[in-house]
Amino acid sequence: MSKTSIYRIIGEGGIRTLGSLLDYGALAKRCFRPLSHLTNSAGCENMGSGDARQRWADGVIRCKNESRRRNSFVRENQVDARVQPKNARAPVISVDEALARIVANVRRLPPREVALLDAVDRFAARDVSAGLSLPPFDNSSMDGYAVMAASCAIGTRLKVVGEQAAGPDRSLSIQPGEALRILTGAPLPAGADAVIMQEETEREGNEVLLKAEVRPGEFVRQRGGDVTEGQKLLAAGERVRTQTVALLAAQGMSSLQVGGEVQATVVSTGDELVAPGSPLRAGQIYESNSILLQTMLTNCGVDVVSVTHCQDRAEEIEAALRAGARCDVMVITGGVSVGAHDLVKPALAKIGATLDLWKVAVKPGKPFLFGRANECAVFGLPGNPISAFVTFLLFVRPAIFKLMGADDAELRLPESTARLRIAVHNDGARPHYVRGSLRHGSFTPVGLQESHALFGLSRSNALLLAPSGAEIAAGELVTVSTWE
Ligand code: AMP
Ligand code: MG
Repeated sequence: MSKTSIYRIIGEGGIRTLGSLLDYGALAKRCFRPLSHLTNSAGCENMGSGDARQRWADGVIRCKNESRRRNSFVRENQVDARVQPKNARAPVISVDEALARIVANVRRLPPREVALLDAVDRFAARDVSAGLSLPPFDNSSMDGYAVMAASCAIGTRLKVVGEQAAGPDRSLSIQPGEALRILTGAPLPAGADAVIMQEETEREGNEVLLKAEVRPGEFVRQRGGDVTEGQKLLAAGERVRTQTVALLAAQGMSSLQVGGEVQATVVSTGDELVAPGSPLRAGQIYESNSILLQTMLTNCGVDVVSVTHCQDRAEEIEAALRAGARCDVMVITGGVSVGAHDLVKPALAKIGATLDLWKVAVKPGKPFLFGRANECAVFGLPGNPISAFVTFLLFVRPAIFKLMGADDAELRLPESTARLRIAVHNDGARPHYVRGSLRHGSFTPVGLQESHALFGLSRSNALLLAPSGAEIAAGELVTVSTWE
């Protein structure tokens, strides 16, 4: 797994690479403040509510109640964003190291053959080479007349000796002074080396008058001009896309060997959580991570076989984990932190799972854990929805793709270069994944950058990694990661 940084700034001095994520855990422990503390004088439409009231218009956030925040390093009228750790103690393991360990710990599932339609968004199990040249035969790209270019001066009249439509090859041929009526996609008759388009001719009974010059090869699609036999079309581990299956269908393929199907289970935990649709009592909140994670898993191409919610009771969690461990992947949410109600770790120990890592230097998402229960890859995501979202993208998605047979290059999130619209500062000890909106080459942080705050995430389509210590000015070029 590459240890390269995924964060770059292009400033006056060109591209600066801010180092490997491996280094971040060791960087200075400083205080910083939430990105919600953005100030801007733009006229704003109120879209939020609550004590950290947000105003947002034209991609700019303006937050009130500045005085509630301590350790503020942002001046009142500064267009800025800072992210603040509640606990400045940096966990030892970096995102890169965690990812490397996870990826090393999961094995590709055995491949299977699927119908081409079902191969989209899977990963090719082996290289695919062309068994057929494309086009398979010389053919016309126009409705017109197949001719010999050498006998085609403007004003020439040629004898029309027949017609070849797209379809079965009638094995026709022409001689000098002759033309064959031909339609798009039809095989070229023997002797012809060009096609004159219908619009440049005049039909006069049995003859056709040429009103334009004809060059050899004109409007002829050469056999093998697109793909030659034996040419590599798809590499093992490469994602199969809509365009790919179109090409494979054009090769005559109706199925493809792709990586194995991943079956997953989702287990959410928490006494305070209520299923959407049920009444909410004081102290309760609606359970939103199950639908988030189910959707993310499904979008990765995973078969989600069960979703279970557990109260914070050891036996209940243990039973759910024992059942879930029959899958290839188990994604647990909540209960992975250090509180007395965080029962996932002991429950995993009870079912005999090994814990490969716990706590990563990342914000949001620090209490993330990864382990194995026999063949099942176990991911414990923090309960806060944004932490669950970010750690899924950083750690669960690549592991799933590896199980599905993806090449290493496919494990990374897609990246784009964008101009940052609002300054982002991270004075904290952990790298911070800032959620924001990427539109027309601009990235704008959106909403309260705290791990429970779903509104901003709901408006986001990209993540900006602000490493510890980063001071990124508005207007700089940054690399952002996307997932859609
Ligand atoms: P935990 O990781 O269990 O300590 O939970 C951290 C925070 O996330 C708490 O505020 C929980 O109420 C919240 N939370 C935990 N699980 C969920 C969930 N499934 N859906 C929504 N919020 C959750
Ligand atoms: Mg909990």
